[in-house]
Amino acid sequence: MAREFSAGGVLVRWRKGRWWMAVIEPQGRTAFSESAKDTLALPKGLIDPGEKAENTALREIHEETGAVGELIAKLKDIKYFYVRTWGDGARVFKVVSFYLVLYRSGKLGNITPEMRKEVRRAIWLPIDDWEQLSYKGEREVAQSAREYLLAHAELQPDPKATSSES
Ligand code: ATP
Repeated sequence: MAREFSAGGVLVRWRKGRWWMAVIEPQGRTAFSESAKDTLALPKGLIDPGEKAENTALREIHEETGAVGELIAKLKDIKYFYVRTWGDGARVFKVVSFYLVLYRSGKLGNITPEMRKEVRRAIWLPIDDWEQLSYKGEREVAQSAREYLLAHAELQPDPKATSSES
């Protein structure tokens, strides 16, 4: 059986008194295959040879959402099987490592035309709305990110610091 190893992240940002996470709507692979419409997923991608999983997570977040983040913590690994609907049609066992990543800069959706073929759009979703994620494993990852943030109030920006954005 084929195996794939990917890494991804829950990119979080504190705004308007709550935590938001970056989620993507993937593009369908072809007009006739499974429609990705309405799929909400976390940014992730295959780990390159020799690449560290946490660097893959930061790279994929940047490529798929346009934002730059800073690694905070490992959240969890999720595992699933799927059957390739392209190429060899192989059954694949996949492991995806997820990290909590704090937003630093950049604008969601500011991605390259090549990436636009894979990502329909990227949006900020309140982390409390984790149930809207399409895959059970990713819902568990988002819940774990939410619990981490609840336990680490120090990650919220200093309310005394003035911001033009809130
Ligand atoms: P990557 O983003 O790692 O480069 P990919 O886009 O090639 O990967 P996946 O996102 O793993 O591939 O999608 C392959 C198949 O697995 C699709 O049918 C997708 O719907 C399904 N899938 C994706 N994520 C999950 C998940 N967390 N749980 C179950 N099935 C999933």
